Amino acid sequence: MGMRATGSMFGLAYGDALGKPVEFKKYPAIVAAFGPGGPTELHKKAQVTDDTQMALAVGWALLSEGDLVQNLTTHFVKWLKSPDNNRAPGNTCMRACLKLDYGLPWEQASIRGSKGCGANMRVTPVGLVKTYDDDTTAYVAQLQAAMTHGHPTALAASELTAFAVRFLVQGATLHELPGLLLERCRSQRQVMRVDGFSSPAGWDECREVLENLQAVLSTKDDGGDVCARTGEGWIAEEALATALHAALRHPDDSVAALGRACATNGDSDSIACLAGAFHGAAYGMTVWPAEWSKRIEYRDQLAKLGAAWD
Ligand SMILES: [Mg+2]
Repeated sequence: MGMRATGSMFGLAYGDALGKPVEFKKYPAIVAAFGPGGPTELHKKAQVTDDTQMALAVGWALLSEGDLVQNLTTHFVKWLKSPDNNRAPGNTCMRACLKLDYGLPWEQASIRGSKGCGANMRVTPVGLVKTYDDDTTAYVAQLQAAMTHGHPTALAASELTAFAVRFLVQGATLHELPGLLLERCRSQRQVMRVDGFSSPAGWDECREVLENLQAVLSTKDDGGDVCARTGEGWIAEEALATALHAALRHPDDSVAALGRACATNGDSDSIACLAGAFHGAAYGMTVWPAEWSKRIEYRDQLAKLGAAWD
């Protein structure tokens, strides 16, 4: 299984691009247009959304020399001001990045009550950095979340999302993820990674959705909207749970997993980008149709970041 980091970065962008046209569409309209499997054909000139743009921002910040908060601030503000930031960006990200650009310290720029999925839809690159030990991965995942989304659940969900990718790159199977992540909820509950922001309550909310996910996965797949049983994914812990739900219903067909993740009443692009990041980390670049890599927006950046961590 080669090129897992590259596969994960491209998988994220593929899911995002497939989900973009249907993000704000309801399930019946999506299956009427694409069938029950959802969209699985990548457009010739496939555009991504803010999810991939922000994951690239995190990725470049991780590769930059020097102070991590400064590097994240630089790349978040660069994204904020980019003319290409016109893909229905999340409110919390925009507000926090405006405050970062104004020069406020990140602790004051952070939107304390927000646990929108904007912090974990962009965190998967953190899980790809092989030179990090577990503590560094956990700290960086939570810190990059706290800079915009200050709710403790946003921090915990971001750590878990990064660890999902990390576990897969280290050789775990997709099926092992719910158990591994639940174990992490329990072991990390009292660990304060980011002073004043991390809290056991965040882990408890994540544990609840993961326990529900395990129960759902123990039943037969109804073939319908994955959001109906694990949540619409606009909030952090649901984005993780529902992305895992879609990914694990199609463990041997990564393109089908993306289509399934898109065919939802919920936050299709964010759910699908995480499902894509998970499948890519599990199976590597060869799991995706080869011609897609020539169609996807930001392909050069995705390839460079992937190569840096493969
Ligand atoms: Mg988006």
